[in-house]
Formats: sequence, C-alpha cells, structure tokens
Amino acid sequence: MGHSVFSEEFCLDFASTLEWRHTRRVDAFRSAADLAPWFYSNGVRLQLEPLGEAALANAHELRDAIHHLGLNSVHGKHFDVDDVATVNRCALPAPLAITLDSGGTMRYSGDFPALLSSIARAAIELLAGPHRELIRQCAEPECTRLFLDHSRAGARRWCGTACGNKVKAAAYRERKRSKKPSRAN
Ligand SMILES: [Zn+2]
Repeated sequence: MGHSVFSEEFCLDFASTLEWRHTRRVDAFRSAADLAPWFYSNGVRLQLEPLGEAALANAHELRDAIHHLGLNSVHGKHFDVDDVATVNRCALPAPLAITLDSGGTMRYSGDFPALLSSIARAAIELLAGPHRELIRQCAEPECTRLFLDHSRAGARRWCGTACGNKVKAAAYRERKRSKKPSRAN
C-alpha cells in the first residue's frame, strides 16, 4: 500500500474508537494493551515499544479533541481552545518516518508520540481544509460516529449500513404500529 494510512477518514475512525458516547460508551481503547493491535489492524504496520498509561491517556485526549473539533465543525461552532491546544501539542513531534523497502512496500517507523503526531497532523489538515464542510455526525439517534460525506448530493446520513438499516427498521415498525386499527372502543 503506497498511500498514507493517515487520511482524513483515519482521523475520524480514530476519534470513533469511543462509540455510543452518550449511552453505552463502547471503548476500543480500554487499556494500553488495546492500542497497538487497533493501529495494526487499521493499517499502521509499525513495531512499537510496550505502551503504558501515559500513552493511553494521550490517545484518549487526542481522540476526544478530534471528536469535539469535528462536532464543532458539524454545528458551525468555533473550536474550543483546549481541543486546539491538544491537537497542536500532539502534532509537535516529528511524525512517523516512511521508508520504501526493496519489495516496493512503504513502511512506517517511529515511536508512539510520532504516531499520534501523524494523526494530529492529518486532523489539522482536515479541520483547516475544504473537507471540513463534509464532516457529518451519524443520524442514528445514539450513534456518535463522525464521517466524511463524499456523496455527490451531500446527503449521506449514516456512518454505515448498520445504522441506516436500524433507523429504517424502526421507522417501518412505527408505521405498522400506527396503521393498526384502534381496539380501544
Ligand atoms: Zn452510526
């Protein structure tokens, strides 16, 4: 794979590692041991030293800042200075280095702060760039995922088909229920 893993979408996927933020709060990063496998399975092929609580806290902080900034964009609000400071602080170290190997594959190298810097830099490019206008929050009532709407009409509503199907099924049940004749009399 030759393109950077750290796309605008990747930032929002990273921000969505805490899902259903106001209800069930499903967290992909419950402990420091969850970090490396998540990055690996999301395309960041990187050897990392064992990670501790500080790495976990920094990952949570960056993830929440990107989520808040994305939500502010959705609602046309100014960015919160604390969120901006978090992203800027994480973007300060050099990002992951990339190298070409003899097999023609791009490889990443660097430590965890470099990894967070790569994410924070991509988030800055998203939030300061033209695609900021494409950030949406999923319309499923409890889903808090953010995504980029690249549809031509700009009318995509769901983070994925699971949420879309859930809402459509609920609407169908509601229509069926309201069509039933009243048995009150
Ligand atoms: Zn959703």
